[in-house]
Amino acid sequence: MYKKLYIPGPVEVSRDVLEAMAAPMIGHRMKEYADIHRRVTTGLKKLLNTTEPVFLSTSSAFGVMEGAVRNLVQKRCANFGNGAFSGKWHDVTRRCGLEADSFSAEWGQPITAEMVDKVLATGKYDALTVVHNETSTGVMSPLEEIAEVMKKYPDVSFIVDTVSSMSAVPLDVTALGTDVCLAGVQKAFGLPPGLAVFAVSRRALEKARSTPNRGYYFDFEEFEANDLKDNTPSTPCISLIYALDHQLAKMFAEGLENRYARHRQMAEATRAWVLAQGFTHFAAEGARSQTLTCGRNDDRTDLEQLKKLAGARGYAIDNGYGKIKNTTFRIPHMADMSMADLEELFNLLEELLPKARG
Ligand SMILES: *Cc1c(COP(=O)(O)O)cnc(C)c1O
Repeated sequence: MYKKLYIPGPVEVSRDVLEAMAAPMIGHRMKEYADIHRRVTTGLKKLLNTTEPVFLSTSSAFGVMEGAVRNLVQKRCANFGNGAFSGKWHDVTRRCGLEADSFSAEWGQPITAEMVDKVLATGKYDALTVVHNETSTGVMSPLEEIAEVMKKYPDVSFIVDTVSSMSAVPLDVTALGTDVCLAGVQKAFGLPPGLAVFAVSRRALEKARSTPNRGYYFDFEEFEANDLKDNTPSTPCISLIYALDHQLAKMFAEGLENRYARHRQMAEATRAWVLAQGFTHFAAEGARSQTLTCGRNDDRTDLEQLKKLAGARGYAIDNGYGKIKNTTFRIPHMADMSMADLEELFNLLEELLPKARG
């Protein structure tokens, strides 16, 4: 009845992760919770190479995306967009009643350091949002180059969505100098949805104190005050935090370098497979994601039909997102996936593709 998930979020969750969630409940104001909270935030700091705080939010990633702009936009926000998620962030910013402009690259293209530099040079903005890995298009933007440019603008809050890249590629928050670096756990972390994690700079925490209308649920000051006691402002999704604790231990046991190499290897294999099947890549050369591959459909494959055939065999596959649905498809290669999982998918699709091609 359940299909094996080959969609780019939520991703397939390993049995051991699901089992970690079945541990008995504890109270979040009990010492037992503080111990786990500290272990998890310490692990996240190690993962992100930061000594500044990392907070746990019981929400999906969009909660923290909204929270980040509510805490850090005092003047005007520049929302950079090159796909569905980054585009939506502009809408979210506006709906919070904040002043914001959107700057877009074509879908399939990255956000570049030059674009960012040009926009910030106007002096109109005190915050910027950018999505590192656009899950709708399979584009990974050059975050390190953007971070270099950001060093010229220390007064502009640097807010980054790494929802589908965090833990799969190296993210050195100290070197990048991000003010907010956020992720939801149902992508590269390989957990069920419902928890978001975010690293916040001390500079951003200072700024947030003087931002009006931060609300309550995503108020950075609340997160900070509670985190000092290894706690959260309100009752967190404790079962998911058990799972994250388990998953972080697994990551460190695998070794981060090995984990990054595994993602690189899966990305390379998937890119080659897509071309071997006669498809082309949607994402621009040099900007292709390490965690998912977005193929451009040819004019002879019925992706809806392919999805139906795969579904009947017990597999959930993707046939594109937003305005590029059915003209593209996405293959995830992240979290706990292995080369063997990919080969299982490739074998299935090689068998089904002739039946979905006219
Ligand atoms: C999935 C995703 C989101 C949205 O995450 P939710 O957890 O559904 O709020 C935002 N940004 C990117 C890049 C994503 O892949």
